[in-house]
Amino acid sequence: MLKKNDIISLQITSATAEGSGVGRAEDGTAVFVPLSAVGDELRVRIVKVKKTYAFGRIEEIVAPSEARIEPDCPLFRQCGGCVWRHITYAEECRVKEQKVRDAVERIGGIQTAFQPILACDTTDRYRNKAQLPVGRDKDGRLQIGFYAFHSHRIIDCKDCALQPKQFAEVIRVTRDFVNDYDISVYDEATGKGRLRHLYIRLGEVTNELMVCYVVNGNGLKHEDILVQTLRETLPNLKTVVFNSNRENTNVILGKKNRIAYGNGCIEDVLCGLTFKISPFSFWQVNRTQAEKLYAKAREYAALSGDELLLDLYCGTGTIGLTMARDCRSLVGVEIIPDAVRDAEENAARNGIRNARFICADAPEAAERLRKEGLSPNVVILDPPRKGCGEELVKTIRQMEPQRVVYVSCDPATLARDLKYFSENGYVTCEVTPCDMFSRTAHVESVALLKRTKNYTI
Ligand code: SAH
Repeated sequence: MLKKNDIISLQITSATAEGSGVGRAEDGTAVFVPLSAVGDELRVRIVKVKKTYAFGRIEEIVAPSEARIEPDCPLFRQCGGCVWRHITYAEECRVKEQKVRDAVERIGGIQTAFQPILACDTTDRYRNKAQLPVGRDKDGRLQIGFYAFHSHRIIDCKDCALQPKQFAEVIRVTRDFVNDYDISVYDEATGKGRLRHLYIRLGEVTNELMVCYVVNGNGLKHEDILVQTLRETLPNLKTVVFNSNRENTNVILGKKNRIAYGNGCIEDVLCGLTFKISPFSFWQVNRTQAEKLYAKAREYAALSGDELLLDLYCGTGTIGLTMARDCRSLVGVEIIPDAVRDAEENAARNGIRNARFICADAPEAAERLRKEGLSPNVVILDPPRKGCGEELVKTIRQMEPQRVVYVSCDPATLARDLKYFSENGYVTCEVTPCDMFSRTAHVESVALLKRTKNYTI
């Protein structure tokens, strides 16, 4: 039986998707070791023992895995962002492919074809959005950065390797301004203080920059100077917005925006279409990979020009709109009213006239549309992490689309939902993982399902 503080030899044989290596102790107990890599031979100190597994910490790397690399970020593992900066990108892709395959096969009980992961060309500086909490440490020093793992302690960050270089400039200008003008910053414990978050977005194709300050109040004292300095430092600055959030909550944005410069939004391009992005709009964080993902979804949808396409959980309409020219008509469903308005505006600005959008809960809307006799040829699903659920799968079965394209940000709920589909006359033909968030634990995937011909309700 393992005990706390035991030192054991351990061979790392697998990895969890959350960034730990796993090996078996002599008695068979699985030991999870952060920062280890498959192939490592280690001396490990046991730090916690549970009934069927234990946690360990590396004491010594006896022989390193071939997949090991030197982490190139000084904040790696302090900040809660990246989990994979200590292994090669090829190994990270292998682990992510495995995670999707394991979920689909083990949770879903589904045997299907898996395509290789759609990998990134560059793993750094791929994000077009940053939301940085602002606070003070216990010595009163200003901290602008990211939360530590499972905590709200802010790790100060001057330049994150996942973000565009120019975000570091925005952080620097903000930091200097707060220090020079003694601006009060928010304290989560007391709910007092002004500046809560710095929120930055970049249109990658248009190079338009948006800076948004989330404040506990209406604005900041001397904010004109801040806006002026940003304009002088960042020639591509398009807009500055103050978002008001007076609630004692983990939700970053409040409901009200006040534009301090520009028109409150930026534009960017995705799959050849132009989209308006406001602080509230959902917009894919890794644009380049989103294009690859959407291309795969489009291939799976296999539209010939005559179909009715139903895009459920459509956000600002991006997936459906990029396919609108290939189908007869498009119906999008999304629960957030602002996103629906954006979707309508996005259709109009791209001259798309065969699309309509409904603001509603996807399962409810699908049921209503079915009762009205809507019979889509292809359904696209892109639900949040909790997946789409059995009720919606049953409604889709009754609508009898030939194909369903399921885009998922959580392999476990994808697997569960694929199982529901298999019980409702749909077979999973293929799954393609996509790496939208390199170096972090997240993995996206897209699955193609087809209706089985001999299935009757
Ligand atoms: N397909 C879009 C957005 C996907 S994110 C894109 O690729 O850009 C998932 C979306 O589902 C979010 O916009 C979220 O607001 C929406 N959503 C969450 N719960 C929902 C529900 N119950 N019904 C409809 N939409 C929902």
